[in-house]
Parts: sequence; structure tokens; C-alpha cells
Amino acid sequence: MEDRHSEKKKGVRWGRFLLWVCVTAVTVAAVWFLLQLVPKEDENVDILLDAPVEIDTEPITEPESETLAENIVPPPDIDVQPLSINEYSRPGEKVDAIEYIVIHYLGNPKTTAQQNHDYFESLKDLQNTSMSANFVVGIEGEIIECVPPGEIAYASNSMNHLSVSIENCHLDDSGRFTQETYNSCVHLTAYLAAKYDIDREHIIRHYDVTGKECPLYYVEHEDKWEEFRDDVMAYIEECKAAAGLG
Ligand SMILES: [Zn+2]
Repeated sequence: MEDRHSEKKKGVRWGRFLLWVCVTAVTVAAVWFLLQLVPKEDENVDILLDAPVEIDTEPITEPESETLAENIVPPPDIDVQPLSINEYSRPGEKVDAIEYIVIHYLGNPKTTAQQNHDYFESLKDLQNTSMSANFVVGIEGEIIECVPPGEIAYASNSMNHLSVSIENCHLDDSGRFTQETYNSCVHLTAYLAAKYDIDREHIIRHYDVTGKECPLYYVEHEDKWEEFRDDVMAYIEECKAAAGLG
């Protein structure tokens, strides 16, 4: 009896020992596992703190023309209504450079800037032609930006990747701009010319790119075209004088 009793006791102790070993092993494994889950933020912070701090010693300067430009000609009122990016009117591609300003007329009398903007926007669904402009100037002189300058608009054919384009509304088939349209177009052209450092000879007509009669009135009346460019340059000079730079 005695032996069997002590045998039983031994068995119980052995069993408890095994249980303890198992519980300890599981606990250690669980703790190790949890430690792996804790993000090692501190290590990363140390790495960041140890990294040499790079100080950019180059002064931040914009190209002179841009700095000058924004100060000289005050921006006209521009209603910014970017077209949706789509392959028919706003491909969303950068131009190579802004070296020219190209002036257009819409060839669709009495339509408003808003209607033409909305037409450009609708081309993403119509998908029957590619057409747009960076800006449209309306009959009352209102200006809508359809495509940001520096992005391709489909207006000036081979010049699209080197220019910013301005479409102009008009009242009749002559294509002559109203005084309000004319004034806004002069202001916008002067603003862009100053901003992108574009001289008189780089303010051109669609006609000068492809021979298309656009803007019609200013193709048929060469003197009026020259007058337009003179007015743009005169406006820039006026702004320079006003800024004490003339
Ligand atoms: Zn044109």
C-alpha cells in the first residue's frame, strides 16, 4: 500500500512539473511573439536623430523674370474653372516651355466664354474632336481659365507644347473684339508676357502658326494686330512705371 501510495504521489508531482514546463513555455512564446508586434519606433527615431542634418545652403530664388513679372502687371480677374483631364480637351501634360502667347478668335459669334468653356468640357463625352484653350475671354471682358498655363491645351497646333493660348469671343462674323474683350485680352496678355518673360515678337496669332484666318479681324487688319501688340507692351510699361521701375 505504502509503495503504491508513494508511486501515486510521485506521478502527481511529475504531472505538475510537466504542466509547469508547458505553461512556462507557452508564456515565454507568447511574450516573445507580442514583443515582435511592438513597432520599434525608438530605434527609428534614433536613426533619424543620428542622421546628419542636411542644410541647403543655396538661397531660394525664383527665375528673375517670374519674380519681376508677378510684381509688375497685376493679375486680371480670372475665373478658374479647370476642365476635367481627358484626351479631347485637357490631356494633363506639361508644355515643354512657355515661349509664345497665341491669340485666337472662336469663329462662333455671340457665344459666351462660359458656353465655350462648357463645350470644351463636353468633348470628353462627345469624343468627336479635340479642342480647347488655356483661357477664354468673353464678350463682356470676363476671363475663364480652362487649362492652367504650363499645361497643354488643344488650340495652336504645332505650338501647343510651347505656348499659352487665349481664345476670344466676338459678336459678329467680322471677328472684331468688343472693347471689353479687347481690354481684357490686352491685360491678360500683358500679365502672361511679364510673368513668362515673353517679348513682343513672341505674341503671335494662330495665323502665324498655321496660316488659318484666326483671329480673323486681326488677320484681315494687320494694322489692328500691330496695335494690339503695341497696347500690350504699353500696358507693361505703364505697370513698370507705376511700380517705379520704368
Ligand atoms: Zn485659332
